[in-house]
Amino acid sequence: MATIDLRRLRLRPGEVRHERVDVHLDPFVLGGQRYEATPPDVPAELEITQASGATVFDLRVHAHLSGACMRCLGHAELEIDVEARELHDPQAPRSDELRSDYVVDDRLQVGVWARDVIALELPEQILCRPDCAGLCPVCGKDLNVEPHEHAEVDLDPRWAALEELRDRL
Ligand SMILES: [Zn+2]
Ligand SMILES: [Zn+2]
Repeated sequence: MATIDLRRLRLRPGEVRHERVDVHLDPFVLGGQRYEATPPDVPAELEITQASGATVFDLRVHAHLSGACMRCLGHAELEIDVEARELHDPQAPRSDELRSDYVVDDRLQVGVWARDVIALELPEQILCRPDCAGLCPVCGKDLNVEPHEHAEVDLDPRWAALEELRDRL
């Protein structure tokens, strides 16, 4: 996983540094489907500002994901563009919000952070298009390709009459 060694930066108060790190994204699994980043290595842009006391990390990451539409199982793609901020003061007590969970042993865990940020941004429903009609619940055919309805056989009175006849035999 991609990390940045914070000791190497040697930031003075008021200093701002830009870093660019390639983050490798393993597929995300959502609703039993896999969504792969294409390409799997995505650039993470970081702006690191040394405030008095805490360091401010501003992350910007962009990923293109593709996988199955949750309604029709066809091809779905989505663009994720997210920004996030973390503060870190190594003197702050653990579990304090000024102490980032993504800084471990003076290394910013950019890979882990970027993955979490993208995962939070994923919609509940990943669809091939917003109005995807999905699969027919009766015959399983793709309703985008073949829009159709089925006659409701169960409610047909002729069938009911036949059922009754069969029960009497
Ligand atoms: Zn679909
Ligand atoms: Zn059908």
